[in-house]
Amino acid sequence: MRLDLIAGLVAAGLLAAGLTPAGAFAAGASARFELDLVAGAARSPARIVVTQGDGALRELVLDGTRLTRVSGDGEVMVDAGKVRWRPPPDGGTLRYQVPLTHRRQGRNSAGNDAYVGDRFALFRGDDAFPVQASRRAARSAFAGELAIGLPKGWSLVTPYLPDARGRLVVRNPGGRLARPIGWVIAGDIGTRREVIAGLEVTVSAPRGLRMERLAMLGLLRWTLPELLPALGADGPGNLRYVNIVAAAEPMWLGALSAPNSIYVHAARPLISENGTSTIVHEMVHVLLADLTTPADQDWIDEGLAEYLSLRALKDSGTISPDRFAGTIADLRRWGKPVRSLRTRSSTGPVTARAVVVCHDLDGELRQASAGRETLLKLVARLLQGDETASLASLRAASARVLGRPARALSASAVPGFD
Ligand SMILES: [Zn+2]
Repeated sequence: MRLDLIAGLVAAGLLAAGLTPAGAFAAGASARFELDLVAGAARSPARIVVTQGDGALRELVLDGTRLTRVSGDGEVMVDAGKVRWRPPPDGGTLRYQVPLTHRRQGRNSAGNDAYVGDRFALFRGDDAFPVQASRRAARSAFAGELAIGLPKGWSLVTPYLPDARGRLVVRNPGGRLARPIGWVIAGDIGTRREVIAGLEVTVSAPRGLRMERLAMLGLLRWTLPELLPALGADGPGNLRYVNIVAAAEPMWLGALSAPNSIYVHAARPLISENGTSTIVHEMVHVLLADLTTPADQDWIDEGLAEYLSLRALKDSGTISPDRFAGTIADLRRWGKPVRSLRTRSSTGPVTARAVVVCHDLDGELRQASAGRETLLKLVARLLQGDETASLASLRAASARVLGRPARALSASAVPGFD
């Protein structure tokens, strides 16, 4: 499952100061995203403190549906579920309160996707700072910093590594606005870290909870080297760090990736009985976070995440070729009755069918090129070229490799589009 709420955010004006013409004054704003955590509190006070000299940040738009006691310097408009804040040209502060304990919305929602309890807190940066859009002066820079006040004895893990002065400078992958996104965990936390194929990965969970942190890092040490090199020397979207956070009740018994972090319930197995792996699947979502797909073609996101993770398990020797073949055969049976892959949320049989499409396409590409071409390399090229991954672009890209249309992408193999 993949969550990428920031698609469509205004990313204009993100030129670094060094790119402006010599002598030109680089306009810019910086924001400190401040949150006070109190153990067990229903609502947490939050502030966005903007520092600027020349009004570079004109407006921030926040999802206001959960925010209360909103006030601030400059102009604050609360309307139709949105908070529009126009800070003074010389900077100012927006203040509000936000509930960080809520149930997961929608189906299979038996559990929380955000929680502030007596012993730990777990939520996403965008739960606390639901920034939806910004309006800024052309070519102005925007820097962000996260600052979270903690109860005594608690520690904190965020998607941002502390700098030499202990500041959490917001560094998001791709061209995303520098505001907190991704998973944050706080409390009496145990963390293990590892650098895997150049990517720093941490696994954090409340201390005392049964959580196989090192086994999870072990699995990622085997599988990530099968995935990362094909995605470019700098990594996808300059991704440098992924934090994995785990917890148990009352959190949702699932897993959810953000562009630079992953939540997984501590009770999820590293590898399921059917041969698939939740954590490797979510890691593929993180690696492909900048791959855009049409909204009604979620089969591509889910098919790629499940297939590429399965393939990495096989190629790393984690599962045997026989088990891999058995898993694909099971998915082929499950997905056979599917009449259309067109959906905004791919699950169950649709994802099973999507995995088989990816498997068969990968096989065709490898066979036609004596193993030099793979589905992962084809997807990496789409990603690097900022091309949308749709059925049409997959067909075009694979036809360039094969010299003919791919059988795996024919109308009967991928139902619901032709
Ligand atoms: Zn998924």
